[in-house]
Amino acid sequence: MTTTGTTDPTAADLDRLRERYRAERDRRLRPDGTAQYRASTGEFGFYADDPWSGPTERDPVDDEVDVLVVGGGFGGLVAAARLRQAGHERIRIVDVAGDLGGTWYWNRYPGIACDIESSIYLPLLEEIGGMPSRRYPPGGEIRAHARAIGERFDLYRDALFHTEVTTLVWDDDARAWQVGTDRGDEVTARFVVISSGPFNRSKLPGIPGIADFAGHTFHTSRWDYGWTGGDERGDPLDRIGDRTVAVIGTGATAIQCVPHLAGAARHLYVVQRTPSSVDTRDDAPYDEAWWRALTPGWQRRRREDFLHLMDMRPAPHGSSGPDGVADRWTDTAPIRGAQRLARTRGTEDPAEALEIADAEKMDEIRSRVDEIVADPATAAALKPWYRQMCKRPTFSDTYLQTFNRPDVTLLDTAGQGVERITRDGLVVDGVEYPVDAIVFATGFELGADPATRAGADIRGRDGVTLAEHWADGLSTLHGWVSRGFPNLFHVGAGQNSASVNFAHVLDEQAGHIAAVCAEAARRGVRVVEPTAAAEAAWVATIRERARDQHAFLAGCTPGYYNFEGRPRTRSEQFGGGPVEFHEILRDWRAGGMDDVLSGGDA
Ligand code: NDP
Repeated sequence: MTTTGTTDPTAADLDRLRERYRAERDRRLRPDGTAQYRASTGEFGFYADDPWSGPTERDPVDDEVDVLVVGGGFGGLVAAARLRQAGHERIRIVDVAGDLGGTWYWNRYPGIACDIESSIYLPLLEEIGGMPSRRYPPGGEIRAHARAIGERFDLYRDALFHTEVTTLVWDDDARAWQVGTDRGDEVTARFVVISSGPFNRSKLPGIPGIADFAGHTFHTSRWDYGWTGGDERGDPLDRIGDRTVAVIGTGATAIQCVPHLAGAARHLYVVQRTPSSVDTRDDAPYDEAWWRALTPGWQRRRREDFLHLMDMRPAPHGSSGPDGVADRWTDTAPIRGAQRLARTRGTEDPAEALEIADAEKMDEIRSRVDEIVADPATAAALKPWYRQMCKRPTFSDTYLQTFNRPDVTLLDTAGQGVERITRDGLVVDGVEYPVDAIVFATGFELGADPATRAGADIRGRDGVTLAEHWADGLSTLHGWVSRGFPNLFHVGAGQNSASVNFAHVLDEQAGHIAAVCAEAARRGVRVVEPTAAAEAAWVATIRERARDQHAFLAGCTPGYYNFEGRPRTRSEQFGGGPVEFHEILRDWRAGGMDDVLSGGDA
């Protein structure tokens, strides 16, 4: 179907498209669902090693801090910074990595960059100052920004790296948490913030024979520059000119690293199960004059504009051009659908308007493949056949072009994945392809249980574990605090609201926690814990306001968005979207915060 043009697709066009999408989904559905993957532990435990810095010798610490933060990625970092701004003296970040940065610490594959515009992505950018090198700067620059936050807010002083928190036990007498680590530390912390992040555990495909491969392998989150040569700053991968390399996976990570492997390796196989939607990227340096003209508060305004646009609401500040941020995210299918509905002033059925906008957008994405990729069979295989938000959209001006090279072959598996891995290579559709190395661009365990994701044994009042408290589902007030677990705060996805600019959402959560702690200090309250009534009311709100995404996700091609084709029937997210959620938090704070500062009595 071609919808590009001035006329809408007909009902018959849409029917044909739906049928195609269904067929593409059906041939990818697998009975083992999420169980098809294996963790990068056990015999693959070496994936957990830190290639970037070795652990330093140190004695265990035995002391007391105001705040202990589990995780030094942007969530933990911003929480620590906001708590520092609120006046806390002893703040200790603990991370298994060798430095701050979280996912940006671990992921250093060639081509790594953010695809949310840096002016709104980089936390505390206005406070730290400086202009990013470009709209979508490379990962190394983002990591340096994380370090700059650490330095500006003096967070290195008490940080413990290459250290894993193993136990968190609430001590009712001390009204504090007793924290144990895998390095023998014993820390008493008045407040604990958990921000373990969604990308902390890499996953491998459970392809038969994966352990038999005799060549070299690594996961993209542990790139082996010792083997490939080059570095993440863009120096050519100069040690693989006589090697054949296969990349398994074609998600957001592969889209970025494949163009760098191409031309460096003697031959590159890109092994595809489902193509990504690849839109233009339009990266460019910032205009210095424009940057200098930004007025105080600019980052908050730009973030707010983007958040509103992505939440399908008018941008309140119009701070930066016609669409606020002029990012390709603001041209994704749901946004186009919302714009269409606004244009037609509600005369259309909303579901159908969204579907038409989606069909048009995906048609453009597929047409772009034809415009760029010369070989018609390769172009056909690279076209995504699903609604755009079924999988994470990607943006690249170099990925599709890679397939015009004679030294790059797309190994499309017709939705089935790699059949088998042998001692010498991999088998697709009965044909063995010998390779020297397999790079797994196969993503992360995103469906992990939130109670155990951090890896620590968490015990609140009366020794109850967090896993027990959440055995029947999450139970929190506004996603950040839970009854029975006083002074323990969660940052990240939960019973709150997300956005593609996750760094913004994390900052809102961090600021909220810091504001509550400041109010607790002002009132001389030592225990921050929701009343049973407040927690129950929020859980009820989550249920009542849940957006029914089930039908949409069930119609999607499998992936981590829909738990490999089996979407959960219950959503834990607040259905009103992030703009309303942030308003709820603001109103609640203005209302006095008694729900958590009354000693948990009601
Ligand atoms: P993904 O989970 O998105 O992709 C994994 C890939 O591996 C998919 O293409 C998947 O295919 C493929 N795969 C899995 N099993 C097999 C198999 N047996 N045979 C062949 N292929 C297989 O991981 P990514 O690391 O690409 O991205 C993870 C997330 O990280 C992104 O969604 C994004 O949120 C974030 N990210 C963000 C970036 C940014 O710029 N901000 C950049 C990079 C990543 P299939 O689709 O069929 O399952």
